[in-house]
Amino acid sequence: MKLESILLPGVDAKRPMVIAGPCSAETEEQVMSAAKALAADGIKIMRAGIWKPRTKPGGFEGIGSQGLAWLKKVKQETGLYVSTEVATQKHVYEALKYGVDLLWIGARTTANPFAVQEIADALEGVDIPVLVKNPVNPDLELWIGALERLSNAGLTKLGAIHRGFSSYDKKIYRNLPQWHIPIELKRRYPDLPIICDPSHIGGRRDLIQPLSQQAMDLNFDGLIIETHCDPDNAWSDASQQVTPSRLKEILSALVIRDGKQSTEDLSDLRRQIDEMDDQLLELMAKRMRISCEIGTFKKEHNMTVVQTERYDEILNKRISQASGMGMNPEFMRVVLEAIHEESVRQQVDILNK
Ligand code: PEP
Ligand code: MN
Repeated sequence: MKLESILLPGVDAKRPMVIAGPCSAETEEQVMSAAKALAADGIKIMRAGIWKPRTKPGGFEGIGSQGLAWLKKVKQETGLYVSTEVATQKHVYEALKYGVDLLWIGARTTANPFAVQEIADALEGVDIPVLVKNPVNPDLELWIGALERLSNAGLTKLGAIHRGFSSYDKKIYRNLPQWHIPIELKRRYPDLPIICDPSHIGGRRDLIQPLSQQAMDLNFDGLIIETHCDPDNAWSDASQQVTPSRLKEILSALVIRDGKQSTEDLSDLRRQIDEMDDQLLELMAKRMRISCEIGTFKKEHNMTVVQTERYDEILNKRISQASGMGMNPEFMRVVLEAIHEESVRQQVDILNK
């Protein structure tokens, strides 16, 4: 699964591959005006949601099939390729009937294997590029599973879209980036193109630039950015859409670093990192052995595994120490909690032996 494989004729392989256009197709005029502005700026692939998965009923659920005729007109009048989200077999048949060039599967759909399988069945024998958004929940296997279902149906032009992960506690981001998840996807499938969706990660137009830059620095292949001529009055996702002229600024400000540059200068630093990782692993293994000895002691003395005050003490002391050493306290909390969780698991095993 390579980037070249999802490229449409005439779209060059240079990073980033850009897909831009409104969250939703609203009216023929809105679709056509966005398409003309984007085409004039050299964008090659347009997005527009025709069927919209909304959290609650009563909102704008997409214009439906009539919007597909507008996308066809976009193709005819501007030469742009057009793309949309499909969530059911009916969506697939309709989109194909109107000549949509690229499809994507939305985050809520990827989370549902029945729905993905139905889409895969409907696409069997069709040679169209399909991008799979990550599932709303941070489950890499589910994301890969959806790609496998499409691949098993014979589709070869596959790619992934990272759009962040839903969380109950929304702070900065609408959907947490959890970059390590797409990075792990890339590690396992180095040839699979990955496109970042900074609009749905950020949920705010001012976050699109920094998120896009971050995606480029992580060697993502492309960007899908919601673009609307009158973003404030968009019928869906108004706060995260940018105008075509802002999109142009965002794209031209991107610094694209070479992902395949010679790594010679880095080899010494990388050797040092490898050594540190060795030491870290050895220390960690030693710590686990001691923790098991403590487990044995607790068993002999009929004590409970988790001693809350002791845990609080370790956590607070080490987090403030880490922060004094210039490390991010939140990062240290995550590391210490993971280590503690594993120690507890091992001690519980010992107690139950
Ligand atoms: C969209 O692209 O407009 C959309 C609904 O995205 P997601 O599936 O990522 O929520
Ligand atoms: Mn949207």
